[in-house]
Amino acid sequence: MRALLVATTNRHKLDEYRAIFSDLPFQLLSLKDIQLDLDVEETGTTFAANATLKALIYAQASNMLVLADDSGLEIDALNGEPGVYSARFAGEQTSYAERFRIILERLRDVPAARRTARFRCVIALAEPSGLLRLAEGTMEGLIADAPRGEHGFGYDPIFLVPDLHKTNAELSAEQKNALSHRGAAARRARQLLATWPQM
Ligand code: IMP
Repeated sequence: MRALLVATTNRHKLDEYRAIFSDLPFQLLSLKDIQLDLDVEETGTTFAANATLKALIYAQASNMLVLADDSGLEIDALNGEPGVYSARFAGEQTSYAERFRIILERLRDVPAARRTARFRCVIALAEPSGLLRLAEGTMEGLIADAPRGEHGFGYDPIFLVPDLHKTNAELSAEQKNALSHRGAAARRARQLLATWPQM
């Protein structure tokens, strides 16, 4: 069993990765588990740049194999906003209820057909040696007229899955994992880990 440091403080993400990698011979540890108190600023302008930056810095700092990700929501009618700034959109301390209000107001006159959006996730796997692999996943959808649902986190209540007529926040964790950007990226990362070179 090899240790894999998941460089996140987001409990939801750690649980999603634990579920997807459950049959691989890796023990997933969080930053808290190894008491690594290091905050890496996401200074990149792409999801890939931020995931790479975090994976390499945490691999160096922990001397472990590391998984780091960066994800966010791109809304086409807002030129891709909030994008890599999803976690900080309208200010880091701003509630999601307020963010939904701002986004829905900006989309007020945008018809359903042009409310296209996607969640994007890039996972970086890195070794202290500098060995690096990326896995990406996307989830296409539409921005709803109003927030709905209690599950998930972040922008899930305003992200409509067109085929299901439900928002992400109305899906169970299993349903979301099967469809989500993070689920898709994680399944690709899973393939990379299954053949990862021994140290
Ligand atoms: P990260 O932790 O830097 O990847 O931040 C990504 C941000 O994008 C989160 O804080 C959320 O606002 C948003 N986000 C990413 N994935 C999801 C998702 O699955 N559902 C809802 N919001 C998400």
